Amino acid sequence: MRVSTASTNRSDSRMFTVVVQGYGSASPRTAERTLAVAFTRLQSLMQSISQLGGKVISVTPSSEASAAPAAAQPAPAPQAIPAPSRTAAAVSHADVPVNLYKPKDPFIGTVTENYSLLAEGAIGRVNHITFDLSGGDPQLHYVEGQSIGIIPDGEDANGKPHKLRLYSIASTRHGDNMAGNTVSLCVRQLQYEKDGETINGVCSTFLCDIEPGAKVKITGPVGKEMLLPADEDANIIMLATGTGIAPMRTYLRRMFEPAEREKNGWHFKGKAWLFMGAPTTANLLYDADFNHYQSQFPDNFRYTKAISREQQNEKGGRMYIQDRVSEHADEIFAMIEDPKTHVYMCGLRGMEPGIDEAMTAAAAAKGLNWAELRPQLKKAERWHVETY
Ligand SMILES: Cc1cc2nc3c(=O)[nH]c(=O)nc-3n(C[C@H](O)[C@H](O)[C@H](O)COP(=O)(O)OP(=O)(O)OC[C@H]3O[C@@H](n4cnc5c(N)ncnc54)[C@H](O)[C@@H]3O)c2cc1C
Repeated sequence: MRVSTASTNRSDSRMFTVVVQGYGSASPRTAERTLAVAFTRLQSLMQSISQLGGKVISVTPSSEASAAPAAAQPAPAPQAIPAPSRTAAAVSHADVPVNLYKPKDPFIGTVTENYSLLAEGAIGRVNHITFDLSGGDPQLHYVEGQSIGIIPDGEDANGKPHKLRLYSIASTRHGDNMAGNTVSLCVRQLQYEKDGETINGVCSTFLCDIEPGAKVKITGPVGKEMLLPADEDANIIMLATGTGIAPMRTYLRRMFEPAEREKNGWHFKGKAWLFMGAPTTANLLYDADFNHYQSQFPDNFRYTKAISREQQNEKGGRMYIQDRVSEHADEIFAMIEDPKTHVYMCGLRGMEPGIDEAMTAAAAAKGLNWAELRPQLKKAERWHVETY
């Protein structure tokens, strides 16, 4: 028996009786258990049984259960997370520009603005920096989810020109001015202490300090990992910490900025859900824009914040993004079961283990194995990660 997800009706109240062998940690491999399950939970139970090595003996509508001989039903085919139908969810890589400008011959952009994204009392320094790209041949253009390289002025300790650093693009292909000739970045100045001295990151400091009018060497664009699906009905779950918000800002502008929608001809109709992690409220980036989108598109956009130094998780510790993922695990997994759902994660590399842990626990609560599901989602181009 194959349990179809396509026809699943979430309000379906039918009950089924499942007879299974060797399922449950304490069960010997030959022990049989009879489980009553609602139709809406049937598929996830099948996945769980198959992943835990159990064998389904029969599945019958509850009213017929007592009449059906247990061994008469064939065992169900194991179900996996639904693969995307290529037309529905796949991310198109066609027409995505890559490496129009390389380090040996970079494009020279001009800074048009550079301002702080942080409110009073924030920790550190994060700036929104825009470059004019006009005049290049070829024209330096890009799509949402890509990055560009910046080669800072000056030389390294060996007297060699600095190497490029990558930055996720924070503007849509139309740019913040909608003229299609700019690119914006969201840059955090790297600062750390070493031997009692404060060390400033070379490129991030160069960018945070740069003045409008300055010329900057730009390479790229690069990256196909974080592209949005073309499907207007796709669902987009976004997990961002700090400057990891950059690609998410491009998606959300593309989805919800009226001028973007008009120019795109792409009218997002799915559900977008942003989980944003920051240390303090003052460190939330582009927060007013996202609050506005939520008020304008309450059916399509949800915005959940984890503010580690101000909010507490249920154990009384700091509230990190993974705690929010755990809190909403049921809804997140219900969305992931839909082949139209994509998950995007961006930020410091250190966020990955926490998210993995939260997803592992959430999956286990549903009888699923995250270590197996995640590669399936990745293969289906529905799990997108860019951490640095
Ligand atoms: C795909 C991608 C996208 C990115 N997007 C963004 C973005 O949108 N915004 C953004 O701000 N950054 C982004 N980055 C990071 C960015 O590329 C740079 O790595 C970052 O700005 C630091 O560069 P820097 O030149 O300032 O630091 P550097 O001068 O290059 O210093 C970095 C080096 O300092 C050392 N170091 C760092 N921290 C410590 C510490 N605590 N103790 C001791 N040593 C330390 C390490 O050796 C590290 O390699 C992205 C990176 C990638 C790969």
